[in-house]
Amino acid sequence: MTTAIGVVIADHILTGRLKDQRLTGKLLRYPSDPEAMHELDAIPDSELIQIIAGHIDVLIGAAARDCAQKADAIGVAVPGVVRSGVVEESPNLKQLKGMRLTEKLAEALERHGITAPVHVANDADAIAAGVAATRGRLDKLTRVWTIGNGIGYGRWPCTDGVWEGGHITVTLDPKERFCGCGGAGHLEGIMGHRAMRMRFLDLEPDEVFANAKLGDARCREFVDLWHRALAAATASFIHLAGPGRFYFTGSNVGFLDLPLLRSHLETMVRMSPLQSFSLEILPPDDETAIIGAGVSALRALAE
Ligand SMILES: [Zn+2]
Repeated sequence: MTTAIGVVIADHILTGRLKDQRLTGKLLRYPSDPEAMHELDAIPDSELIQIIAGHIDVLIGAAARDCAQKADAIGVAVPGVVRSGVVEESPNLKQLKGMRLTEKLAEALERHGITAPVHVANDADAIAAGVAATRGRLDKLTRVWTIGNGIGYGRWPCTDGVWEGGHITVTLDPKERFCGCGGAGHLEGIMGHRAMRMRFLDLEPDEVFANAKLGDARCREFVDLWHRALAAATASFIHLAGPGRFYFTGSNVGFLDLPLLRSHLETMVRMSPLQSFSLEILPPDDETAIIGAGVSALRALAE
């Protein structure tokens, strides 16, 4: 039997315990009030580490009472570019940029008497790992788009590289400059929540999609562009790594019209061996990422 702890850092922190790759017991949440969002970016990095270490301590204590089992591994999912345990870039949690998260958390855990190895993964990669684990697909290539404030691209199995799929260039139009990273023509500059608010200063993103349904020409044109951009990025990954299954999730996945996306993709992917792709929407939930964080950490032990 394996026991792992999974931690997800998003606009809140969630920590859960996995027994044999399944969540068991209750999740711990910070801030405990789900309404108190956007609080995390104001908390210093050292304090965030203390909060996470404290939650892990509570769950490992519960595990020890439950089955006299220590945790085998601790996995943390965090938004941004993560390499070798270092958060190289984290646009939405700026205090994490440059942080040696694996090292800092391991040090904090040691003060709690916990020595289990810590593994840090990108949040979209953790969702891909969680999807693969919960569907018994750990031996297959699983790709996930997370559609929210930013656009994330996650893949399982983990491979070395940056994989910032949300910043793939999908247009050569020099006017397309709404991406949070400052890059021109990026997918996130079209699809990201913040980017849509900058484009439509007079409308919220949900109003844009609602108006498009009512026939407003400007909004319809944009909704089509939004789907074509996602189709273009997905087509690029099909042309690089092959067809297979793509999952779509995130806080704005409700905007996604799968038949419209498919119709654009079919115009972009014309080589017959590449046309066996499948597309599936997953309702957003935190548990998949927690499971994925834990599973990735357990897999990293074996490597
Ligand atoms: Zn960008």
